[in-house]
Amino acid sequence: MTTTASIELTLRDISAGTAAGSMCGDELITAPWDVDASPGYGPGASTADPIPASAPRQGEIPQEYRDASAEELRDRIIAAKAALGDRVVLLGHHYQRVEVVEHADYIGDSFMLAGAAQNHPDAEAIVFCGVHFMAETADLLSTPDQAVILPNLAAGCSMADMATIDEVEDCWEQLAELWGTAPDASGKVPVIPVTYMNSSAAIKGFCGRNGGIVCTSSNAEVVLDWAFERGHRVLFFPDQHLGRNTAIDMGIDPDRMPLWNPRKPLGNNTAEVLDDARVILWQGFCSVHKRFTPTQIAAARAANPDVRVIVHPECPRETVAAADESGSTAYITKAIESAAEPTAFAIGTEINLVQRLAADHPQHTITCLDPVVCPCSTMYRIHPGYLAWVLESLLDGRIVNRITVDAEVADPARTALDRMLAAKPRI
Ligand code: SF4
Repeated sequence: MTTTASIELTLRDISAGTAAGSMCGDELITAPWDVDASPGYGPGASTADPIPASAPRQGEIPQEYRDASAEELRDRIIAAKAALGDRVVLLGHHYQRVEVVEHADYIGDSFMLAGAAQNHPDAEAIVFCGVHFMAETADLLSTPDQAVILPNLAAGCSMADMATIDEVEDCWEQLAELWGTAPDASGKVPVIPVTYMNSSAAIKGFCGRNGGIVCTSSNAEVVLDWAFERGHRVLFFPDQHLGRNTAIDMGIDPDRMPLWNPRKPLGNNTAEVLDDARVILWQGFCSVHKRFTPTQIAAARAANPDVRVIVHPECPRETVAAADESGSTAYITKAIESAAEPTAFAIGTEINLVQRLAADHPQHTITCLDPVVCPCSTMYRIHPGYLAWVLESLLDGRIVNRITVDAEVADPARTALDRMLAAKPRI
């Protein structure tokens, strides 16, 4: 483990006054089991986002895991994983804390990890150190005999929770009343639903049932091309920013991208505005990426005019427009790895990935655009204590925290995912 890349240690040092910097809340140094019982996303970037009443809660894990030191947990995870061998595959998202991803067989974004899950049909269990929708996707793509395990059930995604299946069905009914759903003489339907990977299996199933598709931040443009070959408009959810940034890059007029507010009739639009729309954007966002601003970019340039600024396309449009480049976590990682000369990078994405990239590439100067340390709340809920608990439970013959998707949702969701997996990422 690279000590300098540990967000947990950074936060503790800041809190103790032994390191410079600030964080978005003192409760970040609280152990996740201390907040599991209370409703909410926990400390971090999405603390203030409203959590659905039906959001899963994590039960209490045995005291021995809560009391164990970082070193003991690390030793126990290594021992359990070695004893399990090929019976288990451990997947770690880029935004996960280093104390967890150091044990992963694969580290990547949701697109890459979905493929890794599919490529291990012989493993008994897939332990997904990410968030809930990612574990659901792994369950869709793995075999029925395999158990997909999310170490902390409270690791959801506030963005995914901004589009519920009831709200999306209601939106679809309103649009169908305006235009119907049948193709016209050109063979195109009025609207194609496109959901970002960061959505529930129910939303992916909705897309599969209604001629739609899933996209990631790596392949959103390819997917929108696919959709416009089949429909006059796209209904894009849940992230307005990825939808807007991708469509603008494709030359679509931003005035033809109305926002859909699920709590208002016609999403708070007129029928005329929707008629003229090319992309209807669901009013969702990522609380991690909305923190990045043009002001931060200006400050980075003032400090170093040669700085290379790369931001994630979940950032607001004005931030993407002010950056030098935007791209998925895979794009950001590749850009840093392939820079031949020592380079100053200012990065607009989740702090765990930025800090790990900085530790792994000491020839470059890599900083996060946001001066405040504020990790993704829900990724941060996966503490090594939970990982040790799920692995040792497997060794004892018990599967805990299994994530399963019902067949009636899974079949159409796979259809939408298969369409996506057939689309090639741009990078
Ligand atoms: S970074 Fe944003 S989109 Fe990703 S899991 Fe966290 S809240 Fe969800």
